[in-house]
Amino acid sequence: MRVLIIGAGMLGASTAYHLAQLGAEVEIVDEEHQGKATLAGAGIVCPWATKADEPQWYEMYAAGARYYDTLIEGLKERGETSIGYGKVGALVVAEEEAEFDAAEERVLRRTKDVPEAGTISKLTPEEARKLFPPLREDMPAIHISGAARVDARLLAAAMLRAAVSLGATFRRDNVTLAMKDDKPVCIGSSGEVIEADEIIVTAGAWASRILQPLGLHHPVQPQKGQIVHLSLPGVATAKWPVILPMGSHYMLSFDDSRVVIGATREDSSGFDYRVTAAGEHEVLSAGLKIAPGLANATHIETRIGFRPAAPTIRPILGRVPGIQGLTVGNGLGASGLTVGPFAGKCLADLVAGKNLSASLDAYAPQGRA
Ligand code: FAD
Repeated sequence: MRVLIIGAGMLGASTAYHLAQLGAEVEIVDEEHQGKATLAGAGIVCPWATKADEPQWYEMYAAGARYYDTLIEGLKERGETSIGYGKVGALVVAEEEAEFDAAEERVLRRTKDVPEAGTISKLTPEEARKLFPPLREDMPAIHISGAARVDARLLAAAMLRAAVSLGATFRRDNVTLAMKDDKPVCIGSSGEVIEADEIIVTAGAWASRILQPLGLHHPVQPQKGQIVHLSLPGVATAKWPVILPMGSHYMLSFDDSRVVIGATREDSSGFDYRVTAAGEHEVLSAGLKIAPGLANATHIETRIGFRPAAPTIRPILGRVPGIQGLTVGNGLGASGLTVGPFAGKCLADLVAGKNLSASLDAYAPQGRA
């Protein structure tokens, strides 16, 4: 079976890797549009503190975190060492006592009988600052030891490399879709038809453009995120935990003395690939309020990504009804680096006709109107 995957972000790269493992003949096409979400995403893998409560979305979010150990182990066994993954833990912090208590109740409820979440403990402000020194002096924290962070650029590249080592091919191109003899076909930018038995569209915020010629209304829009990268030269940040305050901003650290503060959530942004004064101000103000110790850090860059935002928080995953050989995976929104690897495995199993480890019924895409 020959499968064509359009889009090699976290979701498409994982789908390709898992399908190649199942023995399919895989071709991956990716244009790497400016603002590809996987290149900008922060990389927090910690579903257990979220305030959002949609049950079927949360099921996928939690399953995504659970799958990470298996994924990382499998890639390491294949010789992949540059993955950027670290189980560094997370500190949940709140400015108001009532919010802190509610967060503690939520985390304890969500992590009961969830071994991958690790241990949950309450830290004094001094204990919290030992783990994350720039933190404000008056903030106690809830520590989740199983939380992780991942450099999505490295992980997606590792999955693609692994897929290619298993026989998949990769081409850089901006393709589109058309109907021919009642079947979808993929057309390259030079007009050539790229043959496939099955087509999987994992094209993120751009997917509606290529599904529209098939008569499909695909309701995924770009949601712009601006995310600030700082450096603390000479400081060993690799093991610092993720910081999860109550709002939508957060902090996490990487191996190269880098601390990241995220992020704006700009609906109706279109594909406006610009760092704005307001975006930069919003993110830095939120970060420095919680971690004033970062005030003297060096600003390295601000990345921009377009989250693929569906009308509801639930992702869209499955075969498109009424169109033979077409599968869509999209709408991973703000949680796609957590959900993407597992969702990609589910799409691979679905297309290869294997038993699914999770039902995708709740995430089914719409057919033609
Ligand atoms: P993308 O990564 O956008 O990939 C889609 C690819 O399809 C692109 O490369 C594009 O060029 C390609 N494509 C599109 N159309 C075509 C075409 N016609 N031909 C060829 N190629 C095409 N998630 C978390 O779990 N934790 C986080 O901490 C987190 N932080 C985030 C912070 C920010 C600032 C942002 C923006 C996102 C964050 N996310 C996070 C969400 C996560 O990054 C996304 O949900 C995820 O990366 C989406 O992956 P994707 O593969 O669906 O899309």
